[in-house]
Parts: sequence; structure tokens; C-alpha cells
Amino acid sequence: MKCKICKSENTRFINANISKCLKCGTLFKNKTVDYDKEYKDYWFDLNDKKFDWYVKDQENWFNYFKDDIKKGTVMEIGGANGLIINQVNDSKIILQELEDIRPNELRNMRIKFMKGKIENVLSNIKSNSIDTFIMCNVIEHLNDVPKLLNRLYSKLKDKGRILISTDDGDNPMGGLMAQLNHTEHTVTLTKNAFNILCKDKFKITKYWNVSDYLIYTVLEKE
Ligand SMILES: [Zn+2]
Repeated sequence: MKCKICKSENTRFINANISKCLKCGTLFKNKTVDYDKEYKDYWFDLNDKKFDWYVKDQENWFNYFKDDIKKGTVMEIGGANGLIINQVNDSKIILQELEDIRPNELRNMRIKFMKGKIENVLSNIKSNSIDTFIMCNVIEHLNDVPKLLNRLYSKLKDKGRILISTDDGDNPMGGLMAQLNHTEHTVTLTKNAFNILCKDKFKITKYWNVSDYLIYTVLEKE
């Protein structure tokens, strides 16, 4: 089984569904995860009031991101209800979205809304045009994180940034729980995995344990 982040074959099975990379420490699902199926089965009708806690959580995440957002064009990928990017003031804002936004909330937002698969939407974004990408609890759902980071690298201006929050693979309990509890979480990265991903492309300017289970990191284009 090849590591989904560093591509090392030095990996071992944790159980029938999950493996661990012995080179970079990433935990990953043995199969390609069908994002649409697993994700939609697990949650997500954001119009359902039972997800109000999640809506609130999205608003709170902005407090972690706000100081690292550069002036200019901000694009959030997988922004759920848009309540993070809606709080960005002085930038032209674009939102790319996989789930459906709450219609009432969208009406109040001045956001360019692009719906579709990440790879298709990114094809419509010019190279060297984005100052900041935000991905709040998104990359753990992807089958090919290295490919996406390469795409984002080409879309970023010089010194542009990617702001990422995700599960903490360096926390032995938290990392494993993220994989066991979430069939829709494809990869759980460690700091070492980020170092490997960023080599010759990005400088990691922030890497912070937000909680026992989540990290927040800032990658700056070199
Ligand atoms: Zn690896």
C-alpha cells in the first residue's frame, strides 16, 4: 500500500481499512474514498437545524484565519455555508463549494460562488491570481492532496498563502480517532507529511495545535 502523501511504500496496515506510512506518519484509508457518497451519507444537509452547531463552528474558525489572510483575492475551497469567507472584508472574495449553501445566508453575501468539483472549478481560475486560499477541514477528505497543492501553487501569486485546518496526525489518539470515526476522512497528516509536501514550493510559516485533535497551518509560496 503506497502512502497517499509521500508515495513511500514503507507502510503498514492498522486494520482492514486504514494504513500508516512509516516514512511520513500519515494515516490513510486503504481504498480510494468516494467523497460524495461517504460525505453525504455522514452529514450534510446544512439546511437541517441539527447542524447549527457546525455553522457556529465555521464562524469561529475565522478567528484563527483572519490575521493570516493577505489583502487581495481570497478563495475558500469547500466553504460549507460560506460563513468563514463572508467575514473577509477588504478583499475580492470567491467561494468554491461542494455542498449547498444555506440559501437565506447566501443572499446576504457578496461572494462569487463557483460550484463544482475542485479540479473543474480550478481550471477556470487564472494562474498567479489568488493571494490566499482557505481550506477549513477539507484536505482530510481528498484522495490526492499532493496534486491539489500543486494546482494551488500555480494559481497563487508570489508569497501567496494557503491556510489549512485539519486533523492532527501527530496526536496518536486523535489521529487514529479521526480515521476510525470518519469513513469520509481519507488522510490524516503529520507535520512531517506537510514538510514533505511543501518541499521546494511552500514555506510553513505557522503550525499550531488548535485543539487536541486539530491543527492550523499556513503555507506560503516560495
Ligand atoms: Zn508517507
